[in-house]
Amino acid sequence: MGRRTLKEKQSMRGLMQDWPLLCNRMIDHAAAIHGEREVVTRSVEGPIHRTNYREIRARALKVAQRLERDGIKLGDRVATLGWNTWRHLESWYGIMGIGAICHTVNPRLFPDQIAWIINHAEDRIVMVDLTFVPLLEALAAKLPTVERYIIYTDKAHMPETKLKNAVSYEEWIGTVDGDFAWKIFDENTAAAMCYTSGTTGDPKGVLYSHRSNVLHALMANNGDALGTKSKDTMLPVVPLFHANSWGIAFSAPSMGTKLVLPGPKLDGASVYELLSTEKVTNTAGVPTVWLMLLQYMDANKLTLPDLKVVVCGGSAMPRSMIKAFDDMGVEVRHAWGMTEMSPLGTVGALQPQYANLKGEPKVDVMAMQGFPPFMVEMKITDDANKDLPWDGTTFGRLKVRGPAVTGAYYRLNEKVLDDNGFFDTGDVATIDKYGYLRITDRSKDVIKSGGEWISSIDLENLAVGHPKVAEAAVIGVAHPKWDERPLLIVQLKQGQTATREEILKFMEGRIAKWWMPDDVQFVDEIPHTATGKIKKTDLRVKFKDYALPTAAA
Ligand code: AMP
Repeated sequence: MGRRTLKEKQSMRGLMQDWPLLCNRMIDHAAAIHGEREVVTRSVEGPIHRTNYREIRARALKVAQRLERDGIKLGDRVATLGWNTWRHLESWYGIMGIGAICHTVNPRLFPDQIAWIINHAEDRIVMVDLTFVPLLEALAAKLPTVERYIIYTDKAHMPETKLKNAVSYEEWIGTVDGDFAWKIFDENTAAAMCYTSGTTGDPKGVLYSHRSNVLHALMANNGDALGTKSKDTMLPVVPLFHANSWGIAFSAPSMGTKLVLPGPKLDGASVYELLSTEKVTNTAGVPTVWLMLLQYMDANKLTLPDLKVVVCGGSAMPRSMIKAFDDMGVEVRHAWGMTEMSPLGTVGALQPQYANLKGEPKVDVMAMQGFPPFMVEMKITDDANKDLPWDGTTFGRLKVRGPAVTGAYYRLNEKVLDDNGFFDTGDVATIDKYGYLRITDRSKDVIKSGGEWISSIDLENLAVGHPKVAEAAVIGVAHPKWDERPLLIVQLKQGQTATREEILKFMEGRIAKWWMPDDVQFVDEIPHTATGKIKKTDLRVKFKDYALPTAAA
């Protein structure tokens, strides 16, 4: 055999073009191919505002040009505190278009946390909606890195404010002509950041890259995922400041899907009005917003004939909600994900073996969180990192890997991947043989009773099925014999009364006997985090000294 030259031994490279996957290419595509497609907003000032992708791109270029004039460079952080509006959307593309990092801040966090996050990110500019100007005025003295504040409004609506170098967004971009070209840089450059609002400890910064955002958009556009088309209309109720807006700020423009943005009004009546008047076909949000919508529709006997698909995630979707949409002829896509995953992990489209199911068996499948699209790998393991079977019943720690999954946190020297590159989600789940995921708990919320695990989410979902129950939370309480036992905490619907026995009776026979809560406590209000999740840490404090009736036995 002849000797191979060094050149021959090297792997042969493909001969395709080098075309970095940059976020701006998505708005370029939208403007070029779907330029007339509308972006409709309920503005913070009040009126409905209409624009299109061509305009959004043109104004995003002005944002980029003006940022550069203000001295913002590759890698600098620019924060936004804004509702879903056209201005917020175009500023995302403008910031990312010069290689600066768009840092979405969740205005619902505690003010001290907001200050901590802005300081940790060292944001140089903050773009902010009128609603949150007072919030920032109260914090401004604690934000030394911020050089100027840009208020998402026009001159006429500009408030009196002492915020440093404050200017209205319209005046600010009005000083440039938009004759500007996006910068070109490596696709692994950071594009955006979003801090996870952990219930304990300091928030952690997740840093998305241009490449991860583009690949995630393709993932979201998968027909079994969000899958909107150019003829569809998407209303993301999920805010741009939650978990990368579930990727919709990229996936919708890249498909030319018409966008309807709800601005500051997320109540049932306002969301219904937009869904109905704009003939929205696809929408996405957390269960709380769908609860408000369904209650409003029910009370006013309303329908939504154009609505085809509701994506619901962020926390588990109750069965009653799945049924309500299914009865309306709306396809439910129950999704699971997290900020660290850009955020899509799984989406609950019906695979062919489930397609013809009806009634309760269909709800059983839709109550699972769906299966991963291509580019998300997952596994469940025990505490020793040993793989567990995909049998739909064994539950273990859920771990994930993929090009849009975080590999580290911003400026945190902490190893977050296992030896095979998998990220531990902190969730506990089962996976069935078709890859359908069922989240049974957060690993810190799972109740460990006699060496076995009880899913707090399953118990909560069951309890909210009781007609008098508005919301339910289950926490583990110390037990001398079993280690921990479940305590069910219930918030009743307004005007309702119920007894402990009544609630327990409803649950009996629907779960294994040893899963039955040992007691029920009624509270006026179940506490929530800034992203709408039940705040179990507060409940654990509240019930710290609580003794289960079964503990004495
Ligand atoms: P966040 O990063 O704030 O979006 O929170 C992510 C966490 O929310 C996940 O790790 C889950 O614990 C929870 N979560 C998201 N979607 C669901 C869902 N469909 N069902 C149950 N929990 C969910």
